[in-house]
Amino acid sequence: MPSTAHRKIIRGGYVLNSVNHQAEPADVLLEGNRIAALVAPGGAAPEGAEPIDAANRLLIPGLINAHTHSHGGLAKGMGDRWTLELLLHASRWLSGFRTTEHLYLSALIGALEMVRKGCTTCYDLFLELPLPTLEGVEAIARAYQEVGMRAVLAPMTADRTFYQAIPGLLEALPAAPRRDLEKVQMQPGEAVINACRTILKHTAFDASCLRLALAPTIPLHCSDDCLIAHRDLAQEYGVGLHMHVAESKIQAVAGIKQYGTTLTAHLDALGFLGPHFTAAHAIWLDRDDMQRLADHGASVAHNPGSNLRLGSGIAAVHEMVQAGVNVGIGTDGASCSDNQNMFEAMRFASFVSRVRSHDYHAWLPTEQVFSMATEGSAKALGFGDAIGRLAPGYKADIVFLDLGHVNYLPLNDATNQLVHTEDGSAVDSVLIDGQIVLWQGRFTRLDIAALRSRIETAREELAIRSREAKQLSAALEEHVGRFCIGLARQPYHVHAMAGNDY
Ligand SMILES: [Zn+2]
Repeated sequence: MPSTAHRKIIRGGYVLNSVNHQAEPADVLLEGNRIAALVAPGGAAPEGAEPIDAANRLLIPGLINAHTHSHGGLAKGMGDRWTLELLLHASRWLSGFRTTEHLYLSALIGALEMVRKGCTTCYDLFLELPLPTLEGVEAIARAYQEVGMRAVLAPMTADRTFYQAIPGLLEALPAAPRRDLEKVQMQPGEAVINACRTILKHTAFDASCLRLALAPTIPLHCSDDCLIAHRDLAQEYGVGLHMHVAESKIQAVAGIKQYGTTLTAHLDALGFLGPHFTAAHAIWLDRDDMQRLADHGASVAHNPGSNLRLGSGIAAVHEMVQAGVNVGIGTDGASCSDNQNMFEAMRFASFVSRVRSHDYHAWLPTEQVFSMATEGSAKALGFGDAIGRLAPGYKADIVFLDLGHVNYLPLNDATNQLVHTEDGSAVDSVLIDGQIVLWQGRFTRLDIAALRSRIETAREELAIRSREAKQLSAALEEHVGRFCIGLARQPYHVHAMAGNDY
């Protein structure tokens, strides 16, 4: 049993009961990094318990970001009218040319924003080019450790370029710049797998805080041999698999051309689906795809902010849940959603569910959205029995919201206001793993002001390093964009099948 020195008691707060929409007065007793009990307020504190003042605070479990990309931290705000394909077209100059310092700073920016806005754990599909390295993943892990945040780190990999992944795209581009693009190649699948294996073999993180997973990014961006090697490696090391699945209509159409089946059916045929598998976005699914995911116990990471920003579509989350799919909520990377705000992601998840049907029974209720952003995401990350709830035995990942903040004046309905009113600005303090990482709006371990000049230096360095790639990307953007508009206008069978009556 932990010594009494590790006991803390959070006193005077109100614990969210998301199901009955109430803020219920309770003290929270912590033993080490776990919640030991929720007790009646004002009772005698156990001997030696260190008190933490939560007067006038609403206590919720830390939100869990089911899908983000730490490399986006240094690229926020860089694009505007980009489809997913134009984002992928820009990704080399947006996310390439990074040093270890850049990888670290980019992850740090994202982690700081997430914690400041009430998120305590994330699934980070980070990109390091040309291949993920031990030094790279350790730098990213250091960023999370310094902030005090929990994360699953998955190197995002591929053995094909975006231009090879979209049938007919390269041929549609003007000859001269196309030759420059053709020189840019991904590393062969064998090198990709060796790099991932090195990381899995040689990193030893505290698995209760940092875990590894694999993320062969998009089915069309990986040869089947490369996909299968990822599947086997994930099995060998017992880690999760996370992929972008049917994010855009273009991917869905190109998937049928490439495989003769939907992308999800193809992954199923390759033996990818299982409880360890998370499909990000999953917008262009038909009902059979949803059933496949459900039958295998797989999860979906729903990213409504990114889906809106890139115009990718509205995921049929109500239908997924009805089919039995576990759904978590994510922000996606800051290069395609521009912030890491899980409150906004919940708000969007609720709102976009309403534009798919005139029948309000099919709209997601706020308690369900909250459950997705906590328990649903926890399950997708493989942390389902440890985080996502304020209950005895769960890790002490607790967000304190200021009930004196205008977002709660007046407090009519705690769950509705958390999902529909809260924007992160009432986040006052955050505990992760029983440790105070943010107290009354200030990070306890880091000085953001001191980081600013390092981050600005990184921005200047990357602007120089990526200049040529950016120019090449700009020269071809309109050609890529127009070709993809043509592809997106092709019919796809899913449209009538996902329950969209608009
Ligand atoms: Zn993503």
